[in-house]
Amino acid sequence: MLTHGLERTVRYLRERGVRITPQRQAILEYLDQTDSHPTAETIHKWLSSRMKGISLATVYNILHLYRDLGIVMELSYGDMSSRYDGNFVNHYHITCRDCGGVFDYHRDLVDGIEERAERDTGFKDVIHRVEFVGVCPGCQTEKKGAN
Ligand SMILES: [Zn+2]
Ligand SMILES: [Zn+2]
Repeated sequence: MLTHGLERTVRYLRERGVRITPQRQAILEYLDQTDSHPTAETIHKWLSSRMKGISLATVYNILHLYRDLGIVMELSYGDMSSRYDGNFVNHYHITCRDCGGVFDYHRDLVDGIEERAERDTGFKDVIHRVEFVGVCPGCQTEKKGAN
């Protein structure tokens, strides 16, 4: 959402007839100010401390609405909880296999690969996903400290 800007995102939603309830507004704000790729559980925990009586199911509904409207990216990792990303500019993610942290990695590695895939396969609206996995600097430091 960094490049969309919160105001533009809200306008985009209004134009599509989406009512901006306080919960919906709060989730937008949360995703706008974080790059930690939170799970629905994390967002729910944070939201519960500000608003009484919001259920996890409501948080999921809102996140799925945003995903379907194309303003939030859902990153799924097999059995683990999905993580949500408000930054919709195409970017890669690098995941730490020790702490499970998900970090952004902004680099255009394979320019024009979607167009090529579309030409080769006849598909349209092709996107590509690349997943990097490793050990983050934080976990490397912890390991050194333990020795
Ligand atoms: Zn780590
Ligand atoms: Zn991201």
